[in-house]
Amino acid sequence: MVEPVKINCDKCGYEWWTKSKMKWVSCPNCQSKTKHPKKEEETEKEEKKEEKTEEKEEPEKRGKMGVTY
Ligand SMILES: [Zn+2]
Repeated sequence: MVEPVKINCDKCGYEWWTKSKMKWVSCPNCQSKTKHPKKEEETEKEEKKEEKTEEKEEPEKRGKMGVTY
């Protein structure tokens, strides 16, 4: 089931209900694209947290090189 979502156009103030799953819904009145409010919420949740890769810091073993003359 797709729940209809009320959309309010930012440009002309037109209000309508849509069942669109698209992120951007075009206004039937002025044809301008308005962001889908529900999709906006979803995208915010979908934001992936940057996975921190634990890099093991290997201490550099500085062996003293024998200097040959
Ligand atoms: Zn509009």
